[in-house]
Amino acid sequence: MSDSLHTMMDYPLTLTALLERAGQYFADKEVVSRLPDGSMHRSNWGQIKDRALRMAECLLAAGLKKGDRVATLMWNHYAHLECYFGVPAAGGVLHPLNLRLHPDEIAWIANHAQDRFLIVDDVLLPVLQKFAAKVKFERIWVVKHPGPPSRHEYEDYEAWLKEATGQVPLPAIQENDGASMCYTSGTTGHPKGVLYSHRTQVLHSMAQAMADSCAVSQHDVALLAAPMFHANGWGLSYTAAMVGAKYVLPGPNLDAESLLDLIAREGVTVTCAVPTVWLAALAGMEKRGPDWRPPRDVRILCGGTAPPESLIRKLDHHGFHVIHSWGMTETSPQATVSLLRTKSLAWPEDQQYAVRSKQGWPLPLVEVRTCNEKGLAPWDGETMGELEVRGAWVAASYFNAPETRDRWTADGWFRTGDVATIDPDGCIKLVDRSKDLVKSGGEWISSVDLENMLMSHPAVREAGVVGVHHPKWQERPLAVVALKDGATATADELCAFLGTKFAKWQLPDGFVFVHDLPHTSTGKLLKTELRKKYAEWKWQT
Ligand code: ADP
Repeated sequence: MSDSLHTMMDYPLTLTALLERAGQYFADKEVVSRLPDGSMHRSNWGQIKDRALRMAECLLAAGLKKGDRVATLMWNHYAHLECYFGVPAAGGVLHPLNLRLHPDEIAWIANHAQDRFLIVDDVLLPVLQKFAAKVKFERIWVVKHPGPPSRHEYEDYEAWLKEATGQVPLPAIQENDGASMCYTSGTTGHPKGVLYSHRTQVLHSMAQAMADSCAVSQHDVALLAAPMFHANGWGLSYTAAMVGAKYVLPGPNLDAESLLDLIAREGVTVTCAVPTVWLAALAGMEKRGPDWRPPRDVRILCGGTAPPESLIRKLDHHGFHVIHSWGMTETSPQATVSLLRTKSLAWPEDQQYAVRSKQGWPLPLVEVRTCNEKGLAPWDGETMGELEVRGAWVAASYFNAPETRDRWTADGWFRTGDVATIDPDGCIKLVDRSKDLVKSGGEWISSVDLENMLMSHPAVREAGVVGVHHPKWQERPLAVVALKDGATATADELCAFLGTKFAKWQLPDGFVFVHDLPHTSTGKLLKTELRKKYAEWKWQT
C-alpha cells in the first residue's frame, strides 16, 4: 500500500481499540448481568476492560499463540463479555460453543475448530461432562456463580485472572487478524465455521450503530437477548462497547416474565432476539394488561426468521418497535435492515407495516442480488431467485472446509440458500429457504407467507408449514398449528381465513393441531423435524 496516493494513517480497526475507548470514556457505564440463579451482578466498562486485559495477559502466559482458538461454554453475562474482548486482545480467536447442541455435535465442532482452551460456567459443567472425554482442551477455567458449589478438577477463573500483573505488553493486533468464530447450526451436513476478523467486526459495529440501522448510542441501555454463542452474539457486545452504552446481559433467563422484568428494571431501550422470544414476550405483555408498556420505548433488532406482521403491529402497541433485519452467521450477522424510507413516511399504515415485514435494504458496504436458472433476476418484486451477498463483513470461505467452496460463485458472491424477490426500490423480501419452498405441480408455494398469515389469526400462537409428498402434485402444504391457551379454531376456519389472501391451490391440504412446535437450538422453527414427523402423512383424496 506504500505506493498508493494518499496521506492518511494506516490505523488498524481492532476490537481492542473499542474496548480501550469504552474503558477510558465510559468507565462508569454499567454492565449488568442476571446470573444463572437469578441474582444480579453489577460491573462497568472500566472493570470489563481491566479484567479483559488481565485475561489476555493470562492467556499469553498459558502459551496462547496468535490465532489459537479459545472456546467458551457460557450464558450471557459479564465473564462471557470479558472473553469476547480478552481473547481477541491476546491475539486469540474466541469460539463460543452452542450449549444447546447435542454433546456429540459440540465435541465435533470443538475438535474441528481445534480449540486449545475452554472457559466454562460452573452451572454448565454437566454439559461439559457429556463431551469432555471426546475433546482434549489443554486447560479449562471455571466461572463460579452464586449457588451450591460444584465439584470439579478444573481451574478457577477468578484465581487465574489474579495471576495477571498488568505489566506484560500485549501483542500488536492487525485488523485482519482473526478475532472470533461461530459455527452455523448445520441444517445440512456438518456445521460450518465462520472466522471473523477484527476489521469485519469493527465495520459491522459501525453499521449496526448507524442512525439508519439500530441507532445505538451512549444514551441507550442495550440488552443482548440473543445468545452470545449464536451468530457472533449478533455483534451487539462490540457495538455497545464502541458507543459506550449501558449493557444488560440476561444469563439463561429468557422467559417472558424475566425478560420483561429486566427490561423494566434496567430501563432497556434497545435489544435483539429471534421472533420466537418476542412471541412469548408478547403473551407476557398481554397478560400484564392490554395497554402495558415498559418505562421507556424499546427498539428490537429482530431476525433469524421473519417476524410475522401481526407480531410487529402488536409489539408497537406495547412500545416495542421491531427493526427487522436479515442476516446469517456468514454475514456477521446483520446484512440488511427494513426501516421506512423518506418517501414511505407518508404512506398509509398498512403499507408501512408491509414494508417493515420485508427483509429490507442492505446496509452500506453490503451488496445483494438474486439469481435463478435464467441468470440475474430482475428487480420487479416478483421474480424469485437465490439471494447472493457480498460485502465488508461477509465470509469469503468456511474454516477448514474446502469441500464447501461451491457456496461461493465464481465472481465471489456468497450463495445464501435463501430464495427472495427484490422490488424496483431494491427492497428484499425473503420467500423461503430454498429447501423449505413447497413445490406443488410445478408451482412454488412460500411456507413463510402461509405461516405469517396463520399467525395473524387471533387463535393461533405459532404455525409451521411444510411440503409433504403427494402422489399427484409432487408436494402439498401441510400446516402444523399451535393454538393460544384456551383458544379454539378448526381446520375449515383457518383454511377460510387463508383463502381471503391466497389462491385455492396454495392453501394447505391438511391441518394438524399440536401443543408446541419444535425449535432449533437458536429458537427457529425446526422444519426438518416437522418434515420427518409428517413424511408419511396420508392426504385425503
Ligand atoms: P442457521 O443456518 O443455523 O439457522 P443462521 O442463524 O446463520 O444459521 O441463519 C441464517 C438464516 O436465517 C438465513 O439464511 C435465513 O434463512 C434465516 N433468516 C435470518 N434472518 C431472517 C429474516 N429476517 N427473515 C427470514 N429469515 C431470516
